[in-house]
Amino acid sequence: MLLIDCPHCGARDETEFACGGEAHIARPLAENTISDAEFAEYLFWRDNPKGVFLERWCHTAGCRRWFNAARDTVTHEFIEIYAMGSLPKSKAAKDAYASAWRRQTASEKAAKPAQKTSGKGAKS
Ligand SMILES: [Zn+2]
Repeated sequence: MLLIDCPHCGARDETEFACGGEAHIARPLAENTISDAEFAEYLFWRDNPKGVFLERWCHTAGCRRWFNAARDTVTHEFIEIYAMGSLPKSKAAKDAYASAWRRQTASEKAAKPAQKTSGKGAKS
């Protein structure tokens, strides 16, 4: 039995929660064009690592609010719980975020506003 520390209610039994799957999947903006295969990658592909994984959780039988968690899929240890819309702060969770294959996908890049190709001031 797991105890999950809801950031709004405190520690509760795992049966009160629902896992919403992988966190930090950025939706491509309509102004950007990506191929159907790249959009399918955004829509259907999910990571399933052995080790630290960043997930969304909802306290369905409590406050019904969502939060993010970094959890070790081997030990089920919750490494860090943090707010939706923010990034993890612990080293293990930061490393998991930075090293995820998703950070390099076309759909992830298309989630940021389109950049001008004039050269000056454009970020690479
Ligand atoms: Zn709660």
